[in-house]
Amino acid sequence: VSAFQHLEQAPEDPILGVTVAYNKDPSPVKLNLGVGAYRTEEGKPLVLDVVRQAEELLIQDRSRYKEYIPIAGLVEFNKLSAKLILGDGSPAIGEKRVATAQCLTGTGSLRVGAEFLSKHYSQHIIYIPVPTWGNHPKIFNLGGLSVKTYRYYDPRTSGLDYEGMLEDLHAAPPGAIVLLHACAHNPTGVDPTQDQWEGIRQLIRLKGLLPFFDSAYQGFASGSLDADAYSVRLFVGDGGECLIAQSFAKNMGLYGERVGALSIVCRSATVATRVESQLKLVIRPMYSSPPIHGASIVATILSDRNLYYNWTVELKNMADRIISMRHQLYDALKARGTPGDWSHIIKQIGMFTFTGLNKDQVSFMTAEYHIYLTSDGRISMAGLSSKTVPHLADAIHAAVL
Ligand code: PLP
Repeated sequence: VSAFQHLEQAPEDPILGVTVAYNKDPSPVKLNLGVGAYRTEEGKPLVLDVVRQAEELLIQDRSRYKEYIPIAGLVEFNKLSAKLILGDGSPAIGEKRVATAQCLTGTGSLRVGAEFLSKHYSQHIIYIPVPTWGNHPKIFNLGGLSVKTYRYYDPRTSGLDYEGMLEDLHAAPPGAIVLLHACAHNPTGVDPTQDQWEGIRQLIRLKGLLPFFDSAYQGFASGSLDADAYSVRLFVGDGGECLIAQSFAKNMGLYGERVGALSIVCRSATVATRVESQLKLVIRPMYSSPPIHGASIVATILSDRNLYYNWTVELKNMADRIISMRHQLYDALKARGTPGDWSHIIKQIGMFTFTGLNKDQVSFMTAEYHIYLTSDGRISMAGLSSKTVPHLADAIHAAVL
């Protein structure tokens, strides 16, 4: 008898399980809108041209080895990543107040950040929005933090519950950590306005809360790297402290390369140096040091003017295609006279639309139309194309009638 005989079959991941179910469906019209990865108009994954070019350069350079890189990752990558999110000429960088560690994408950066905070920060409570990316509560719980929630999405308006959010943050204990989606909130696609960000910043600073930004979509939301970094730069601009988990999965299409960074913006250079030394102690027993290839690609692109420029063009093309899918879906529903106000489809930003469809409607669409999405009604706009919009619009129309 096996030592593991007592194990029960674990459920599929609620997000990745959608793809598992999709793969099993033999229907030729099946459509996967669960996956949080970019697809072309032809429904294919995309490797950016600049990524291919950077890889060519890396391969040609025979002076490159596959040696272990430092515990905190490639120094050049870390510098360039911090500059990308904080902006050219950021005083925090100039004053050497930023400690950055290359981590395993957004997820790994959040996890390392959580373990660092649970070891070295006085307050272990972290507030996350409702709803949020399904992995957040698990990452923070296992990272040693205690998870509480703040109101975020208002189903009545399909928009932000700004008052509710402020009330909940106001009631948070002093020093509590607050998880904020830097832009393109997942799953709702609802972001605060610039004025609302300022209100949130004032409250967080007034109450001495500690902001932890999850930046998984910089440049992917609006097509502009600077516009999508607005919230982070607003907070860093006031001189206060924060953590930032950055991912290059979406904006460089480097999903499987697992490349990201955790930056901790501190009050002084002395503290930042100590923070970095402690980050290494968190990382070393976890995975020793991060992988070299993805970070080398990112560093190659970010350090070369031409590649960088070409990246911004390709990034904007991806963002624009997603925005155009929003308009096409909205128009298709209007053309069908589908009951309800669907303007949130064009108001929300980023990869996802939070449709407002309920669990039963989602099950109906999967059973009758072979359309796969998470049960909360979230659809990945990146998985849509001009060809598949009519099929989706038909399904939504039938589901809400
Ligand atoms: N944070 C949010 C809000 C996300 O949507 C995702 C991916 O879907 C991630 C983090 C992390 O993804 P990765 O670990 O691939 O960077």
